[in-house]
Amino acid sequence: MNRRADVLILGGGGVGVAAALYLARRGQRVVLLEKGLIGGQASGVNHGGVRIQGRHVAEMPLALRARRIWENMEAHIGTRAEFVACGHLKLARSEEQAAELDSWDAVAAEFGIRNVKLGRNALREEYPFLGPDCVAGSFLDIDGGANPRLLAPAFAARAREAGAELLERHDVTEMGHDGEGFRLVANGREFRAPFLLNVAGYWAGAVAATFGEPTPIGKTIPNMMVTEPLRHFSGRSIGVVGGDVYLRQTDRGNVIIGGGRAETIDEAQHTRPLPAISRLAMRKAIQVVPQLEGAMIIRSWSGIDGNMPDKIPVIGPSHTTPGLFHAFGFSGHGFMLGPVVGQILGELVLDGRTDVPLEPFDIRRFTGQTVTI
Ligand SMILES: Cc1cc2nc3c(=O)[nH]c(=O)nc-3n(C[C@H](O)[C@H](O)[C@H](O)COP(=O)(O)OP(=O)(O)OC[C@H]3O[C@@H](n4cnc5c(N)ncnc54)[C@H](O)[C@@H]3O)c2cc1C
Repeated sequence: MNRRADVLILGGGGVGVAAALYLARRGQRVVLLEKGLIGGQASGVNHGGVRIQGRHVAEMPLALRARRIWENMEAHIGTRAEFVACGHLKLARSEEQAAELDSWDAVAAEFGIRNVKLGRNALREEYPFLGPDCVAGSFLDIDGGANPRLLAPAFAARAREAGAELLERHDVTEMGHDGEGFRLVANGREFRAPFLLNVAGYWAGAVAATFGEPTPIGKTIPNMMVTEPLRHFSGRSIGVVGGDVYLRQTDRGNVIIGGGRAETIDEAQHTRPLPAISRLAMRKAIQVVPQLEGAMIIRSWSGIDGNMPDKIPVIGPSHTTPGLFHAFGFSGHGFMLGPVVGQILGELVLDGRTDVPLEPFDIRRFTGQTVTI
């Protein structure tokens, strides 16, 4: 049976379910098509970092608006998804990295963010568990972390309550615009609407290309692992300049560690972590927190996100097809932004505008570049 809607959403990750909720709450008939399970890809398997520190200057207005949603997440979706503002400590392990750490201070100042700088002695005093390689740090108390397993399903549940139809195991295999509106086919059914949101994560690059807007999208496949529960040493989220290792200890004591890149299999339908990369990441983690030596890794995993050459996403209207809006290529840091980007897509569809400057995220910035999908 054919299905007509006001808005079709291609992809049930964090961005798609947030858009579904906000559009349904504004009275739209929404159908979301997800080839697997809601939040089954990057949005459900990420590190859970909710971080402003270190963001690209273009992303700052987006991240600050996102942070306000996170503060009130319970009012939006009935749960905080375990969000805690535990603060993010970014560390430098050399004088060169310390200089790089300082380079973000101008961005912080421009947006009225107060990050606290720590020298070697202050680090030793406040964070005695850190290894000797850490020479400087920058701490931002409003950063934090949440549980990615909880966020997308909670948005999806509220979206369904608001009347949206979210269809899992619906792989969109045909798509196009016939002059009147969009026509998508999944599981042999046809879906039609005047608006389409392309929020298909890594696979959104191929969708954009189908509508004549190819981009030089690549993959980022972070290698992740978690230790057994350990004696508590810090509730902070911890990262390093360069991003080659990052970690956060949960209340239960497990330490979630990310570092290095995993690999894709089945033509990028699935990912798997690499033991050699996990060992390397663990060695780096031990350099930062020596007491991790000997900790048992109980699970490792990965996931895939679209990676843009300039490390910022594509967000905004298509320039080939009226009614089409893109949001993809979050380059490994879109978990925090999912709720706000979903909200903004809703505003673009219904109001034709938003208060966040989207020019830096325009898909046309890649016009003429070599494309590898
Ligand atoms: C391991 C890892 C760690 C990360 N850590 C962090 C972090 O700490 N902090 C942070 O802010 N960000 C982090 N990220 C990035 C973040 O997870 C992503 O940027 C974000 O989740 C992207 O959300 P999305 O909705 O765009 O994409 P996705 O979650 O990938 O959702 C897109 C959905 O579209 C579906 N889809 C694709 N093609 C089709 C089709 N043809 N038909 C139907 N459905 C389709 C997919 O199945 C998928 O579910 C991490 C990412 C990974 C992989």
